[in-house]
Amino acid sequence: MIFLCVAMVALQQQCFMQRRRTPKRPSCFITTHLQLLRGINQLLWDTLPCICIRRAMAKKGCKMKDIILKHALRNAVLHGGKANVNAVLNKVLGELEKKDIAQVGKQVKKVVEEVNRMSVKEQREKLLEMWPNALEKKVEDKKALKPLPGDTSHVVLRIAPNPNAPLHLGASRGVVINGEYAKLYNGKFILRLDDTDPSIKKPLPEAYEWIPEDVRWLGYNDFELVIASDRMEIYYEYAEKLIDIGGAYTCTCPRERFAEYKRKGIECPCRKKEKEQVIKEWKDMLAGKYKEGEIVLRVKTDMKHKNPGLRDWVAFRIKKGEHPRQGNKYIVWPMLDFQSAIDDHLLGISHIIRGKDLMHSTFKQKLLYEKFGWTYPTTLYWGRVKIHEFGKVSSSEIRKGIEEGKYSGWDDPRLPTLRALRKRGIKAEAIREFWLDIGLSERDISASMQILEAINRKYNK
Ligand SMILES: [Zn+2]
Repeated sequence: MIFLCVAMVALQQQCFMQRRRTPKRPSCFITTHLQLLRGINQLLWDTLPCICIRRAMAKKGCKMKDIILKHALRNAVLHGGKANVNAVLNKVLGELEKKDIAQVGKQVKKVVEEVNRMSVKEQREKLLEMWPNALEKKVEDKKALKPLPGDTSHVVLRIAPNPNAPLHLGASRGVVINGEYAKLYNGKFILRLDDTDPSIKKPLPEAYEWIPEDVRWLGYNDFELVIASDRMEIYYEYAEKLIDIGGAYTCTCPRERFAEYKRKGIECPCRKKEKEQVIKEWKDMLAGKYKEGEIVLRVKTDMKHKNPGLRDWVAFRIKKGEHPRQGNKYIVWPMLDFQSAIDDHLLGISHIIRGKDLMHSTFKQKLLYEKFGWTYPTTLYWGRVKIHEFGKVSSSEIRKGIEEGKYSGWDDPRLPTLRALRKRGIKAEAIREFWLDIGLSERDISASMQILEAINRKYNK
């Protein structure tokens, strides 16, 4: 009871203080228990960061506040004593743990206010007392993009989106990072539309125009456009070369039976076929003599490979649906890992920079490179970035939502597509800065649209 009274008095005082600070805020007299709980929560939220900031100012004891304080002080010292909330926020985001990011905006504002009340002399002294190296350029002003490893004499980079939707915010990371590296090394930037899945990720006809438009809008005009489905004959040619060197075989085992072989690490009997029989069955596949699901072309790997996903993976399968660009011209389609590996080699890709969720593709593709005696590109990865406001929405879900009238179109403001963000007033410069600030870290992070919006405000002034 005593606690409740103390809390109510403190809360009333807090409400009074808040009304004085923010006169537009509705008055908050306690009328229900719920309001009381909310009030106590607000009180704790407002008080704790201050305690934390004071602790951080006294000594380095509070990790998140330390990070905020360091950047607030540094920004203030470098800008005549007045730190900028957005600039501090950008710096802080690069250093925080995933769990802290959601709350950071409010706390940065509080710390910046506190720091801005100090004189420049005090700010400088406090900064150097706690972080003696903070004003050394080499420590803080590091480039967002580290030098590329490996041979950089002929840098060729690519992004390879599936044209089953226009680009979304997540995919723009690949455009920005690869596009910037291409500029940095005076290299070549390839936009390849990987449209060889005619059924599950069926291409969207408009996306063939929209994606190049999105890339240009982001500020990368200098790219070479390659459309995978226009290169089907090349993939067939390499399938035959692979069969010829004994690296692939036609397999007619039912899917479930092969899954069993794969699980147990047993070789499928189709592996023992003579090369001539494999070539004949491959030609019959192309000639339409098999139905969907009756036969596939598998890459010969190691059926005891420690990762079952890599055991004799499928390179080609039959899909008879109509393709938006190729119509009914082809019925045998390469799997993405096969198509992508052949293209990466033939297009001379020197570096592949992609999400670490695609590491399994690297393993599959490397194996193919080894079979052909090619050198695999230098590969770099980044971690996942989850944007709170959008969650996980797949292109096929959006497409369904549009068809059902749930969304007005691909530029519906609730969607994470670049077309929607553009409509909401987000500038390409802000998206570029957002991704360059995050850089090439392999750490998974969680971010909010508020961060992008905060950066965007700089470009709208
Ligand atoms: Zn088989």
